Amino acid sequence: MLAGLARWLRAAGYDAATGAAGQNDRALVERAVAEDRLLLTRDHALPRIKGAFDHTLVLDGTDLDDWAAELRGRLRLDWRAAPMTRCLVCNVELTDADGAARAHIPDGARAGPGPFRACPACGRAYWPGGHVQRMLKRLARFAGHPEAEEP
Ligand SMILES: [Zn+2]
Repeated sequence: MLAGLARWLRAAGYDAATGAAGQNDRALVERAVAEDRLLLTRDHALPRIKGAFDHTLVLDGTDLDDWAAELRGRLRLDWRAAPMTRCLVCNVELTDADGAARAHIPDGARAGPGPFRACPACGRAYWPGGHVQRMLKRLARFAGHPEAEEP
């Protein structure tokens, strides 16, 4: 359920891992502790698992806008920290797109100023097209600047 939130955290530049499908709570907690991560959950029982308390944050909201506001308020999370610097799928930092990666960028976009980035893990290319502009506006809204996104 929070996978969508993880994707937006990556869009903002944060290292946001997700658990494997069917991974049990104990394994999630062990991973959070081992990797010094904060486990975001809606499960109020999860922090009671041994070792979990300092590595869990229970989100009370019911949708993405709620969670974005909670993370901004409770963690002082900056939704505009390093936008579009991480692969939305792989959670890997993007690098400058080389020739092979640039071939996946539409001609019209390739003629633009860039930046053109690529994921070293999956090869996905990223460029500042309309979709990215919409995402940046949404990140601005998450950051508390609602005027940044048109209705
Ligand atoms: Zn990737």
